[in-house]
Amino acid sequence: MNKGELLYTGKAKSVYATDDADRVVILYRNDTSAFDGKKVEQLDRKGMVNNKFNAFIMDTLAAAGIPTHHEKLLSDTESLVKRLQMIPVECVVRNFAAGSLVRRLGVEEGIALNPPTFELFLKNDALGDPMINDAHAISFGWATAEQLAEMKALTLKINDILKDLFLKGDMLLVDFKLEFGLFHGKIVLGDEFSPDGCRLWDRETRKKLDKDRFRQGLGGVVEAYEEVAARLGVTLD
Ligand code: UDP
Repeated sequence: MNKGELLYTGKAKSVYATDDADRVVILYRNDTSAFDGKKVEQLDRKGMVNNKFNAFIMDTLAAAGIPTHHEKLLSDTESLVKRLQMIPVECVVRNFAAGSLVRRLGVEEGIALNPPTFELFLKNDALGDPMINDAHAISFGWATAEQLAEMKALTLKINDILKDLFLKGDMLLVDFKLEFGLFHGKIVLGDEFSPDGCRLWDRETRKKLDKDRFRQGLGGVVEAYEEVAARLGVTLD
């Protein structure tokens, strides 16, 4: 598969064309960003760790019947994926209160949420990814009611699968963000699943093992990601 022209550069990944109009190559860079791109640093090994971790999660989800864009690892930092027409809406599920929920509602971090909450955010850095609801998404044409219902059902199913997976590694899946796209009209999971886009805590100590270590300047960011991978048995080297 030949890597062609650079199509898009995001905050942590770059997307390249291939000779197949339906496939693109994703390059995972070491760039790490937070606060809508206002804090950016290079973290050694992060691109490789996230690329391999994402491949493991996507393969696990595919085996459980979730349609994903992931096809195969191409190198330490590159994966081949289906080219999706992305839906500009982020789907967030929370099993415990943290992050923007705590800031918005003034609740205590760590409160268990039963049932898990489901939220939508508009993917727009300039606006700080504002929270939206179904009506906004439908009326502005970002997604149809049917697409939103499917995205919600898939996100909650993914939560069930991944909550159990992380628990086996003595980790709590606190919350996560997913992005979906259309492949020949069908909803497919896109983007990535890695500790950059979820919160994971040690089950006993509640030590943070995700990008909050970067956001909060706690250090040991990539070391924590590698610990998560090791606990799930993901081979990195
Ligand atoms: N998240 C993400 N990208 C975003 C916003 C959020 O990956 O642009 C993830 C974040 O890492 C967390 C979950 O979505 O796992 C919920 O994030 P939250 O709404 O609490 O926002 P934050 O506190 O991260 O700004």
